[in-house]
Amino acid sequence: MTDKKYVLALDEGTSSARAILFDKKGEIAAIGQQEFRQIYPQPGWVEHDPLEIWTTQLAVIQEAMKSAKAKPEDIASIGITNQRETVVIWDRKTSRPIHNALVWQDRRTADVCDALKSRGLESMVREKTGLVVDAYFSGTKIAWILDNVEGARERAERGELAAGTIDSWLIWKLTGGVHVTDVSNASRTQLMDIRTCEWDEELMRELRVPRAILPEIKDSSEVYGITHPNVFEGAEIPVASAIGDQQGALFGQACFEPGMVKATYGTGGSLMMNVGEEVKYSDNGLLTTVACRIGGKTQYAVEGLLFTVGSVIQWLRDELQILHNAAESEVSARNVSDTNGVYVVPAFTGLSAPHWDQYARGTIVGITRGANRDHIVRASLESMAYQIRDVITCMEKDTGVKLADLKVDGGAAMNDFVMQFQADMLNVSVLRPKIVDTTARGAAFLAGIAVGFWASRDDLQETFTLDKQFDPQMAREKADTLYSGWTRAVERSKGWAEND
Ligand code: ADP
Repeated sequence: MTDKKYVLALDEGTSSARAILFDKKGEIAAIGQQEFRQIYPQPGWVEHDPLEIWTTQLAVIQEAMKSAKAKPEDIASIGITNQRETVVIWDRKTSRPIHNALVWQDRRTADVCDALKSRGLESMVREKTGLVVDAYFSGTKIAWILDNVEGARERAERGELAAGTIDSWLIWKLTGGVHVTDVSNASRTQLMDIRTCEWDEELMRELRVPRAILPEIKDSSEVYGITHPNVFEGAEIPVASAIGDQQGALFGQACFEPGMVKATYGTGGSLMMNVGEEVKYSDNGLLTTVACRIGGKTQYAVEGLLFTVGSVIQWLRDELQILHNAAESEVSARNVSDTNGVYVVPAFTGLSAPHWDQYARGTIVGITRGANRDHIVRASLESMAYQIRDVITCMEKDTGVKLADLKVDGGAAMNDFVMQFQADMLNVSVLRPKIVDTTARGAAFLAGIAVGFWASRDDLQETFTLDKQFDPQMAREKADTLYSGWTRAVERSKGWAEND
């Protein structure tokens, strides 16, 4: 492995594909990035063209390799991290998709999910998959394509078609025909029993997905195959990891031990806690999922999804027009010493974890005559930290694991004011790494470990360099008083649109 210089991570997101070359020190040597089309055939339907995803991915690989002056021989292995739940079905002989990919946001199977719920299948699904019954997950999407493309169901039964999440599709294209997925991606299909990590007969029957169409489930870090000679000018590079994006970030943040949590502050947010080698269910609206599997050892996670995190700042900028840019929010918040009693609950599309109220709507409460722009901006920033505390309180209750510290990433994690307030709200240290591309980093490390480019995941820990640590400073009593105001504000936002 000494002659190899890089591991190539393919970060296939919802709106763009990226390729990142990581060097031996775990640092980024080059990045290629390109957006691809979002296809909206009807309200609530979202599709991608799988061939466009592939060609975009190839283009960004070229871009990254060119900028690092890297040759195919320099690459030790390839790792993939991807938008989760999105599915593709293709012909095994021609490798041509039989339909566009149905994206995780696609709601077209909501009625199928309602029917599954009304048949009382929710608790079985929850026990086996750790998930709620929702159109968000892949299973019902696969069945939809089979039912809506002529002859597809029969062809699937005969074994002529292959289905998979985006990791599967890319591995198939890279290797020229290896049909596999990793456990973390499989755990989001709603077809795998997370306790055994195998496709489940009852789930396949109820969701109407034939076994013959599904990939083999593999570890998140192992050589699945080598690249087809056509892809890298004859070079044979091992394809050696696949992991769902949020799980990739959990690994990339080196959250290897139970109780370690990462929080992603993007447009929306995701909190994930490593809960160790046993499945732990939530009673509070959190999902149970596979974090990753290395050397046959499965680690589990619980996840809290937040619909609105950084987008509250976009709202202040674009709709209220009281900010020029996101970074200005920090300056504005620091103009005042508190919010003057104001709370902003950004329940624009309802409340997600842990409240799950689709009828909740955004609210600003506690306004008095002295409330000004800075108070509202500050309250909006504070809402991110309060929401995270809501989820973490439930995670601790559900898992019995006490939070040790919080590792953060995503655009809004760049805001020092929010990070300090987060540390104060949780009474733990908040750790922000230097490399914020944690998702791709996770995939790269899993692929590097699989081929001996790095010796073990401890190497990753060593390359984890902190940008900044935020330690709690606020008196507990004050933090709890502020938080109890938030919980009252959240109550005011609930059920608002019920009578619309
Ligand atoms: P995604 O990957 O979901 O597109 P990013 O991780 O790029 O999101 O984060 C973008 C979000 O972060 C936007 O909603 C933006 O408003 C918010 N954001 C970016 N910088 C800041 C900042 N300095 N303070 C607060 N929010 C910010």
